[in-house]
Amino acid sequence: MTLSTIQSRLLAACAAANRESASVTLIAVSKVQPIERVRAVLSQGHQVFGENYVQEAVQKWPDLRAEFGPVQVHMIGPLQTNKAKPAVDLFDAIHTLDRPSLATKLATLAQSRGTSPDLFIQINIGSEPQKAGVLPDDADAFIVTARALDLPIRGLMCIPPEDQDSTPHFKSLSEIAARNGLSGLSMGMSSDFESAIAAGATHIRVGSAIFGERNYG
Ligand SMILES: *Cc1c(COP(=O)(O)O)cnc(C)c1O
Repeated sequence: MTLSTIQSRLLAACAAANRESASVTLIAVSKVQPIERVRAVLSQGHQVFGENYVQEAVQKWPDLRAEFGPVQVHMIGPLQTNKAKPAVDLFDAIHTLDRPSLATKLATLAQSRGTSPDLFIQINIGSEPQKAGVLPDDADAFIVTARALDLPIRGLMCIPPEDQDSTPHFKSLSEIAARNGLSGLSMGMSSDFESAIAAGATHIRVGSAIFGERNYG
């Protein structure tokens, strides 16, 4: 598939859900992809990308921004506290705020820099033991904590369990966001972004459907 195919599917999903297409940001997830594929998508004018690894992103994006202009890059992978500094220097948004120690660290950095990337709190929406994210039962309290630190919390992010229908999980995430007055919903990947749009996603994270399969070789 290609960027234009995904953009058409995004438009169709918005139309079907009676939503403005401008209310959904397509994050092209470029982690692990060969640089030629990333350059091809940049050349088509796309300006919002997602990365999972701080080191990979730091090696790639300063050069690409110098060449292609002020491209937005969003961090969507797990963030170690000791990588928070290079992360806030590089990323426009971080979707994986998932624990108090990281919130404290990001708040300290925001204070000293006078600015912070937009933040999304990752919710472990299926309460899976192996998965990162704040448990749904702890979400309201964690949002209060993060706001008390003056962090710019824009919304919530989730990765539903792989073997289940995503839609009920997207709906739960949307309910947690609504009752906490948060408008951002980062949800939906290559296999389920249309149902995420139907459930109110504001940010969809699509990788392989745009760039092709990832080769972790
Ligand atoms: C890799 C990744 C994606 C993109 O996955 P695809 O299935 O390739 O679209 C989206 N979100 C997160 C958190 C990821 O790690």
